[in-house]
Amino acid sequence: MPDGSAPLKPRTLRDAAGLVEAGLVPPEAAPGLERLSATYAIAITPVVRALIDPADPADPIARQYVPDIAELETLPEERSDPTSDAPFTPVKGVVHRYPDRALLKPLLACPVYCRFCFRREVVGPDGGLLSEAELEAALDWFAATPTVREAILTGGDPLMLSPRRLRHILARLSASPHLDIIRLHSRVPVSAPGRVTAALAEALDSEKALFLCVHTNHAREFAAPALDALRRLRRAGVALLGQSVLLRGVNDSAEALEALFRAMLAAQVKPYYLHQLDRAPGTARFEVPIAEGRRILRALRGRLTGLAWPAYVLDLPGGAGKAPLGPDFATAEGADWLVEGPLDHEPHRHPARAHPSAPPRAAG
Ligand code: SF4
Repeated sequence: MPDGSAPLKPRTLRDAAGLVEAGLVPPEAAPGLERLSATYAIAITPVVRALIDPADPADPIARQYVPDIAELETLPEERSDPTSDAPFTPVKGVVHRYPDRALLKPLLACPVYCRFCFRREVVGPDGGLLSEAELEAALDWFAATPTVREAILTGGDPLMLSPRRLRHILARLSASPHLDIIRLHSRVPVSAPGRVTAALAEALDSEKALFLCVHTNHAREFAAPALDALRRLRRAGVALLGQSVLLRGVNDSAEALEALFRAMLAAQVKPYYLHQLDRAPGTARFEVPIAEGRRILRALRGRLTGLAWPAYVLDLPGGAGKAPLGPDFATAEGADWLVEGPLDHEPHRHPARAHPSAPPRAAG
């Protein structure tokens, strides 16, 4: 925890000088981080700052937000648009990759800027707010595309919008009979919980099924201000899901993930996705190999309630979609299956039935 020797300033840290003053980086790092901030945005809110122990060089909260000069090195396998949003953009602010759902990105600002972000080249405090005309054109696209059943608000962070604008977007989406589900992805409840006011919670009151997917990566992010914000959202009837990224030095152990998923469930946030890192520029220090991710998750099976189990997925480059990465517990052996027991870790044979009980299908 902070040593308490200096009062925390209630402002968001946005530059190298602020990071030095807060004791989060040494003064000699400042010139390099000045250069870095011209390419990648920096923001650490007071709530997040209070979670960081500056005396711990391996602090898992600091690691997510404090920039590192290594970010300026882009490796050959890294891509500026790793999930290929651009080729699937029919109108500005919309990404349509899957037949039944599409993203709406009304703005590209966030409360904090995560050092591993897959949209790090486009998110930032100055950019990406759709103009009134652009927003209406994006909403018109949703109204005119009946195959799309789910609208996913992302960005940036849609909870950075004013309650008035959010209410307008949700009302327009709700007016389309073919849209059943509205989903929002946000870091706000844990990183800027003060934005979750009664007006904002009320703006999320929708006639459609609405899910708020909260991005968190470490159990310590569920501190009192975040828990209060999540409670306000629950009381407003908002269903809460959790999404995380598997990150080296943040949550790359069975113990860390167990604590994270338990903290989510205790806040009534259902773990939904655990993402394999997208290879955005300068993010190599966060990557956990898939084989290790599968081993970590395998160790959690049987010791963690099934409610806590997210889908471990990789967003394939080129827009091929999100693929589940396992771990697998079943292997085919002829017509039988060998299934590993989550409690004894032994293979159990599940034989094919000699006399299938299902009635044959009627012809035609
Ligand atoms: S809040 Fe989300 S979109 Fe914003 S920087 Fe973090 S990961 Fe990227």
